[in-house]
Amino acid sequence: MEITELQKDLAATFRWTAKLNMHEAVANHFSACVPESSNFYVNKAGIHFSRMRASDLILVTKENKEELKNSPHIVDPTAINIHGAIHERVPHARCIFHAHPKYATALSALKDPTLKPIDQNTMIFYNKVSVYNEYGGFGFEEESIKMANALGNKQHMLLANHGILTTGETVADGFNYLYYFEKAAETYLTALSTNQELNVVSHEVAEKTAEEAANFPTDFAKMFLTQIRLILDKEEPDYKD
Ligand SMILES: [Zn+2]
Ligand SMILES: [Zn+2]
Repeated sequence: MEITELQKDLAATFRWTAKLNMHEAVANHFSACVPESSNFYVNKAGIHFSRMRASDLILVTKENKEELKNSPHIVDPTAINIHGAIHERVPHARCIFHAHPKYATALSALKDPTLKPIDQNTMIFYNKVSVYNEYGGFGFEEESIKMANALGNKQHMLLANHGILTTGETVADGFNYLYYFEKAAETYLTALSTNQELNVVSHEVAEKTAEEAANFPTDFAKMFLTQIRLILDKEEPDYKD
């Protein structure tokens, strides 16, 4: 089968996540729906993010889904459950980035894991993140449907006691949000760690900034992924294989 640009884009985001040290052993998953379908690509089980190639992305379809669920050596079954449940139920979540990076995960461990609007990056996420607050073990079937329902009409979801899940219409968007969520969580937790009072901006300012970010005239997410791919084209072009 011919390798698509979608697979190359997605492979590039795995490589970059590893460079940022936001990966975890050989766990975690990113997925992207094929245009006009709920069939999706997801990473093959056991491949380190730093070695991910476009051909390591497995296409999960309605037809092969059940068989793949029983083939944990091909795809992590929790990937099929969580990502499959969300892709099926939440139409705006075309691409899903689910990871356990340091700061987002530390935030997820707080009693109140709401990211307060204290800088531009935290404001991007104002009112855009649902909290899945019923951690009930690894993402098997029942847990996955609850997660999909908890995402609802929000764009992203903080998984309490677990990690973060960002989504986007495109690979570039979803990955850009993962990158910025981790940065925002880092800033927020660093600010909290001073034990000084936070200078939280008003609801109006936070909402306005979030809308401005969502409708920004320049497509920063796309430019970011383009730059990432240009760097990888030079340094490790086998991501496209
Ligand atoms: Zn996942
Ligand atoms: Zn997870």
